[in-house]
Amino acid sequence: MPGDYDIEYASPWAGANYQPFGKHGTHAAEYERDSWPELSRLAHDAPEAGIHFQPTKLFRRSKDVGSATGDWFAELMREDAWFKDVVPNFKVMTKADVPAGMDGGTSFTSVCINTSLYLPWLASRCLKHGVKLRRGIATHIVHAASMHHSGKRADLVINCTGLSSHALGGVEDKALYPGRGQIVVVRSDPGYMCSASGTDDGPDEATYIMSRAAGGGCILGGCMQKGNWESQPDPNLATRIMKRAVDLCPELVPAGKGIEALSVVRHGVGLRPMREGSIRVEKEVIEGVPVVHNYGHGGYGYQTSYGCAAAVEKLVKEALQERARL
Ligand SMILES: Cc1cc2nc3c(=O)[nH]c(=O)nc-3n(C[C@H](O)[C@H](O)[C@H](O)COP(=O)(O)OP(=O)(O)OC[C@H]3O[C@@H](n4cnc5c(N)ncnc54)[C@H](O)[C@@H]3O)c2cc1C
Repeated sequence: MPGDYDIEYASPWAGANYQPFGKHGTHAAEYERDSWPELSRLAHDAPEAGIHFQPTKLFRRSKDVGSATGDWFAELMREDAWFKDVVPNFKVMTKADVPAGMDGGTSFTSVCINTSLYLPWLASRCLKHGVKLRRGIATHIVHAASMHHSGKRADLVINCTGLSSHALGGVEDKALYPGRGQIVVVRSDPGYMCSASGTDDGPDEATYIMSRAAGGGCILGGCMQKGNWESQPDPNLATRIMKRAVDLCPELVPAGKGIEALSVVRHGVGLRPMREGSIRVEKEVIEGVPVVHNYGHGGYGYQTSYGCAAAVEKLVKEALQERARL
């Protein structure tokens, strides 16, 4: 639930910003394109949601081509990036605009979400619309249908269990795997977000910096450790993360200072619900229960959220019509 911090709940650990990931022409890119308008509207019109606009700079190192994080960033670095007309102020940066060691990059205006405000805000919106929120564990997806507050069996189940769909009975999707991300939350606010396409510390490490809205702190990341389920922060990795962040973004600390000048709020670990073949937004009938799946959002669950929700809504309507015809 919003307010909890545990390893089976990825959402609180996210940065979370809008840094498109989906390749041109894929469903993921469509979901991202369809999510921007609402995230932008909330940043403009709903300060209580905890989302604000931030300038973003993405830096490219030529030596990262082909590495795990290099692939992760490849789409962002293209001069003809599909999202160049989606986000405001998209600009390709030349060598003159980027720090030493980088050979180019892009900049644009993005959003950063303070997840500790945004998730409770979403829960409150649900409550306002009559949703009954309850805690419970379903060992099989079909059990969820009998957990409805009315005591009656639900007409349909929407499966948003993230990485746990790997083990959930009736689903057991072995295409899912964790993409472990470790972060440090600090009290600095450099006033912009930035990321680099790779590091010299290994192909599964990354450098990104983003300041959350409304005093939510600045997130320093990170890594993308495929298949690693470890829930506890690694102190050596935390030191590397802070050092790389200060190197890339010296505004994090007073002039001439190093990581000793960072004021740490917390260290954290979240498991991105990665999925071979991308996000699963699909409907099926399991043991007579119509189910609409919406999981496997990897490191892009916020930036695809409204696009996926619209796709889910369409599938729910279709599934209920099919059920009514039986
Ligand atoms: C370090 C890090 C940085 C990230 N940065 C970004 C970013 O900048 N931008 C972005 O868009 N995304 C980012 N993400 C990705 C984003 O956080 C995820 O894609 C998203 O939060 C996934 O949401 P979800 O609701 O599918 O899964 P979760 O948040 O994991 O929620 C799943 C829920 O299902 C419940 N559940 C699971 N199994 C059961 C069961 N059997 N019975 C009952 N309940 C169950 C869990 O308790 C949990 O509440 C990041 C993730 C991490 C870890």
